[in-house]
Amino acid sequence: MLLASSRSGRPGAFGAEAGVKGPVASSSRISDALLVAPPFPWLRPSIFANLRRSPQGVTLRADPHCHTIASDGMVTARQLVAAAVAAGLDLIAITDHDTMAQAFGDYEGVTVVRGEEITTRWPAQTHVLGWFLEKRVPTGMSIEDTVDAIHDQGGLAVIPHPFMPTYFGSIQPSMLRRLIEKHQVDAIEMMSTVPMGRRRREQLEVFYSRNRERLGAAVGASDCHFGAHDIGVVITNYHGDFRTAIELGTTKPERVRPRNVPTGVVLRQQWRSLVQLPLRRLSGQL
Ligand SMILES: [Zn+2]
Ligand SMILES: [Zn+2]
Repeated sequence: MLLASSRSGRPGAFGAEAGVKGPVASSSRISDALLVAPPFPWLRPSIFANLRRSPQGVTLRADPHCHTIASDGMVTARQLVAAAVAAGLDLIAITDHDTMAQAFGDYEGVTVVRGEEITTRWPAQTHVLGWFLEKRVPTGMSIEDTVDAIHDQGGLAVIPHPFMPTYFGSIQPSMLRRLIEKHQVDAIEMMSTVPMGRRRREQLEVFYSRNRERLGAAVGASDCHFGAHDIGVVITNYHGDFRTAIELGTTKPERVRPRNVPTGVVLRQQWRSLVQLPLRRLSGQL
């Protein structure tokens, strides 16, 4: 059980230990500082603890889809975890695109799940999330084989940002229907930060309610790329052990606040995502 008290007794510790003071102090840009500094530093996680009691005990909060500079995120794993502590989260998953290079242990009461966001084969290159991975899942396989590869090493297979109005990256209804004919996934992001119209949202709700057995738990995640700017924007509420809650299907997605990232930072991230990441992939670095 992760109680807030376990991390609230060391005020000021996270700045020094997480090494976030250096980048903040040396940066002349406010937007850069916000990537690693909590937006409301006086709100320590312990303040939230009593507000989070429910009949089943303390409701814990996860943001299980986060990126770092290992792929197209804008912060290091250390900075990401520091932002998670500041946001009062209990668990995050580091799920970089096609790499597990930025591994990080549990920190200040925040459980860090080792994961990967796997790019499946061309042309759709649909994304699949793996949680609790021991080793990297190869890029470029079919969606079905990717789910199998995650399960083969004891991981959980999760569908991120489904039914987006783009063919690339996001699983579409016909593809998901085909996948669950023979496969089962462990969770699906029913709430995320991607823009989606009402019709697609309703389509997703109906699809989920009809196929719950094979789609697993309903989760929410920020697809965080900007550290403190967007961590905890969308979360998964759970009780007890996260993995058990996923397996029991007792999790609850929640939209906490609007995403608010300065335009300049967004543009820099887009450059990383659309230009640098594909180049690294082409040159075999990913
Ligand atoms: Zn994705
Ligand atoms: Zn992602």
